[in-house]
Amino acid sequence: MTPLSQNFTLEEFTTSATAKRLGIINAVGQKEVANICALVHNVLQPLRDAMREPIKIGSGYRCPRLNRAVGGVPTSQHQYGQAADLCIEGDKEKGRRWFTWIMAHCDFDQLIWEHNAKGSYWVHVSYRSDGKNRRHVINNLLKR
Ligand SMILES: [Zn+2]
Repeated sequence: MTPLSQNFTLEEFTTSATAKRLGIINAVGQKEVANICALVHNVLQPLRDAMREPIKIGSGYRCPRLNRAVGGVPTSQHQYGQAADLCIEGDKEKGRRWFTWIMAHCDFDQLIWEHNAKGSYWVHVSYRSDGKNRRHVINNLLKR
């Protein structure tokens, strides 16, 4: 295991059930590792410290082939190690808590309530280490 911070390891961002199933080697480069580190140190570890609860990464880094396999958009920040999907495991209250905390306390590029056709929800957050963070929020679930 390669620790990135007190509570996060690199493997949490690179391990993928889909990659395993399809025999895709989700190899991460130095640049992507640096981006994952920036995301962890600027958003995820501060969130973890404030919430005092485990944060499970559903999808972190995706090589282009894996990104295509999971139906990610071609410009997905997951391909650069800039984005992570946080599992809320059906707990929308927890998701709201995380979402609003990030919105209030972090610099970020995009923060999105994502959902799929099966009705599961997760929090997508991205961070750019070049400082060009747009703080773009898509909070389609918070309105309900
Ligand atoms: Zn995502």
